[in-house]
Amino acid sequence: ASLKQELEASIRAIKDYPKPGIVFRDITTLLGQPRAFRRAVDELVHPFAGNRVEKVAGIEARGFILGGAIAHQLSAGFVPIRKKGKLPHDTVRIAYSLEYGVDEMEMHRDAVTAGEKVILVDDLIATGGTAEAACRLLRQMGADIVAACFVIDLPELGGRKKLEALGVDVRTLVE
Ligand code: 5GP
Repeated sequence: ASLKQELEASIRAIKDYPKPGIVFRDITTLLGQPRAFRRAVDELVHPFAGNRVEKVAGIEARGFILGGAIAHQLSAGFVPIRKKGKLPHDTVRIAYSLEYGVDEMEMHRDAVTAGEKVILVDDLIATGGTAEAACRLLRQMGADIVAACFVIDLPELGGRKKLEALGVDVRTLVE
């Protein structure tokens, strides 16, 4: 099977989760299949092999799993971007809109230094609101965002375009 087919087959669709009318794309089944997990990580890393990447920033929580594996392969450090109130040291924080209401995410103030080359990672991009906020936070600290990587793109929700409008390179594996 092609990589795309294998990844698509490994992602589980859950109807009406977390609420009626929504089809949730569950990547725990991808993570649980040794070959699919390895191939997804390898494919996301591939364009950056040999490039200088100092940090991989992962968005809580599934971005931690993929981001940790990617950071290891690139011999980069890992930076967690978390929901507010979870990080113990000095943080920078940004508010972003959800479908209903707003939330805040934060990272440690000293997690990236100005000019560092950073890759942002999450499992899925939908409207792009979450990733856009993460990019703004990273740039606020002077990070040079090399790319934003996701296993799944939901193109009709416009997230990729939103990040590209910020000048961020977007890499995704399946739609
Ligand atoms: P966005 O901010 O782009 O609208 O939503 C993306 C964020 O919500 C990501 O952090 C992603 O993990 C989560 N998310 C939204 N919908 C889904 C889904 O169907 N499956 C998974 N695994 N995550 C989702």
